[in-house]
Amino acid sequence: MCSEHQKLIDGQYSFVFAHPEQVIDNKTLNDIWLSEYFQHQAKTFIVIDEAHCILDWGLNFRPAFQNLFKLRALFSNANLLALSATLSCDGQHQVAKKLGMKDYKSVAASPARENISFVVCKRPPTAASARNSVEYVVEPLLVELLRSGQEFPLTIVYFSGSMVWVGVSYEMAVRMLGEKFYSGGQDLQHARVVQYHSSLEKEGGEVKKTILENLTKDPEESPLKLIFATVALGMGADLRHVTRVVHIGPPKQLEAYIQQVGRAGRSGKQSVAVMYYNNSDVGRPEVSQEMKQLCRNTSECRRVFVNKGFGFETASTVSSEVCCDICNPELMQGHLPSFTSPELKGTLRNAILDYIGRDSTNYLQEKLPVSRVQQVLCSPNTFKNPDVFIQEFGLSQNVAISLSHIIEEITKLHIQQ
Ligand SMILES: [Zn+2]
Repeated sequence: MCSEHQKLIDGQYSFVFAHPEQVIDNKTLNDIWLSEYFQHQAKTFIVIDEAHCILDWGLNFRPAFQNLFKLRALFSNANLLALSATLSCDGQHQVAKKLGMKDYKSVAASPARENISFVVCKRPPTAASARNSVEYVVEPLLVELLRSGQEFPLTIVYFSGSMVWVGVSYEMAVRMLGEKFYSGGQDLQHARVVQYHSSLEKEGGEVKKTILENLTKDPEESPLKLIFATVALGMGADLRHVTRVVHIGPPKQLEAYIQQVGRAGRSGKQSVAVMYYNNSDVGRPEVSQEMKQLCRNTSECRRVFVNKGFGFETASTVSSEVCCDICNPELMQGHLPSFTSPELKGTLRNAILDYIGRDSTNYLQEKLPVSRVQQVLCSPNTFKNPDVFIQEFGLSQNVAISLSHIIEEITKLHIQQ
């Protein structure tokens, strides 16, 4: 027996921290737990942290989580405490069952943080075009980032479906932001937008480190504003300054949703969680009934709905102004971009580029480079007002009026068709 084990059996340690893999079915440790000291002298408590992992893991990944109940057999008199930041009523019941906790007491607090406003909006159908359905959410965010720069609220966009869209959205950001993609040097350290997925977790290298460093910095000092992420982002990281979480499609479970939403508002600032869905999203068989109901619900306060899922049958104590889009439909505004069809975008793009191309002085190419034309295409209605061209690109009044006129005429024709 090694000296550490001897110290353990001599009662020299008060705490033992271990991964399930280290303690389950470990012959040496089992012998120690069955010794005179642990069976008859020591007062033993078992604490299982992040207990929701027992439900998420075990079949294909880290099977030891399914066998944690074996600790009960080794310490038949020990009290057991299971901790989790997010377990619904049903989840608590399942964890207790898996751990063989027959006579247990549940102590819980609502996981729906009071400084987060809940908003749920529809997005265009995936069936027509998956790309349009993603662009509908991502493009307005990029336009906002272009406009507000350093003032942009630190935002995580979670993609619940395919990881492909993380990359597609990132490419869109590179294209649309142009030189504004970076703040200062042209490297990851100075990037305003990043993508975060499970392969970074596995690599565990410099890229992940840089992203997490920028994410945890004071927002005034950090260039990082927008993160396109899969569920991999957030486990074990304290992201203090996030004030907006956007979901493109609902996560599978209410627990996962509230966990991801809870990455916002940790600094105490008023924050917002916006979830977009369409019929394909809620039709996915892996999406739980609770999540489907949360999306389709049009009458019950979303905070009350979420709280119920975690066993709290109470009215919302948050001011209705900032509670949710059911309590205050105005909260939807700013999250419901108007949808520009790909055909209209194509026609507008050609007309604007044609107009720019006719200017032989290069004045327009400099003021309105091709990379920024996309900004106009995302919200053409805004640019029907020449003042917007003047404010955004510093164009002269004549040119601004001509461009606004082109947009006005083309959109009118498009509607008539
Ligand atoms: Zn509400």
